[in-house]
Amino acid sequence: MDQQTVDRLRERLETERGEVRRQLDDLGARRDAEGIEDPELDEGFADAGQAAAERANLLTLVRSLRDTLRDVEQALDRMVAGTYGICERCGQPIPDERLEALPAARLCMTCKRQRGSR
Ligand SMILES: [Zn+2]
Repeated sequence: MDQQTVDRLRERLETERGEVRRQLDDLGARRDAEGIEDPELDEGFADAGQAAAERANLLTLVRSLRDTLRDVEQALDRMVAGTYGICERCGQPIPDERLEALPAARLCMTCKRQRGSR
């Protein structure tokens, strides 16, 4: 992968990181995935008027946003470390077209399929 492509993908990752952080802020959730599982919601949200199912949905959303944020941050770290675009499982380069589609991809398609079917 050439430097120009890496720079372009880095821009997309940085944009995505900003968007995910803003969404977490909007939800009143903590950004870090460490420790507390519950987002720190607005006082009003957990009140009796809100169904437990709704709260569960929100937690699912927050978890998924945190996962995305973690993947994006790790991808940016790998760019700094010079290991970006290498499959974490098999060590082979991830094809450019997969990274173009999903810049935060950690696995090549083969490994992703194998892991998914497990
Ligand atoms: Zn792989």
